[in-house]
Amino acid sequence: MQGSYSFQPNVLMQLLDDLDSGALKIVDLTTPLGPDTVVIDLPPQFAPSPGLTVTEIARYDDRGPAWYWNTLTMGEHTGTHFDAPIHWVTGKDLPNNATDTIPPRKFIGPACVIDVTADVAQNPDFLLSVERVKAWEGEHGRISAGAWVLLRSGWSARTSRDAFLNVGADGAHSPGFHQDTSAFLVNERDILGVGVETVGTDAGQAGGFTPPFPNHTTMHGAGKFGITSLVNLDQLPPTGAVVIAAPLKIIGGSGSPLRVIAIAPV
Ligand code: MN
Repeated sequence: MQGSYSFQPNVLMQLLDDLDSGALKIVDLTTPLGPDTVVIDLPPQFAPSPGLTVTEIARYDDRGPAWYWNTLTMGEHTGTHFDAPIHWVTGKDLPNNATDTIPPRKFIGPACVIDVTADVAQNPDFLLSVERVKAWEGEHGRISAGAWVLLRSGWSARTSRDAFLNVGADGAHSPGFHQDTSAFLVNERDILGVGVETVGTDAGQAGGFTPPFPNHTTMHGAGKFGITSLVNLDQLPPTGAVVIAAPLKIIGGSGSPLRVIAIAPV
């Protein structure tokens, strides 16, 4: 199909040139995926999601003299991973709600990075408020439809399992979104989804909110996405970066581990 539209043919080549020259950079927002990668710790009445197990099939030996490969076993929601709308009951009947049916155009979008690191350092249960989002917009501009909203909390500096999950006698303590904020981002801004540094897109205490897990409930009920366990958000500007996040094409998949990268100005 030539000549039916008039995009600038040099745009993609310019992108590569800018990456090569260093005018643009690739930021890897993905945490390493291995047997020690921390997964969410649900209360004992619920079925747990297993972390990664790696089993060697062959390694240049009599099982395969010239090749090396492994079998992987894990939950779909392990490490840096994508939450599809079908993950939550509120999104179960939506069209194109699973990893194989989401239109791939949605795997790329602009990033709005909201830095709450100082707040979270004071209060691990910090919740992003609508007021805070509007204050961010006052400084950086309105969040556009189809944007990823990335909550830069500093949480990825917590590398040990105990510090990352931060579970006390009364459950987990980690930051997230006030329920009004999730609704605002969906209804007033029509975002693509939210990304977080923590193990899930709801706050650690969100099982006790009304409704429980309001970010999952609201985002996935509206066909929006989530990404968790992001790293290196401190290397992104508040606006101007583009995130590429394409989950595995698992048939009917509720999510998958993925490599999340951003293209950002230097
Ligand atoms: Mn998940």
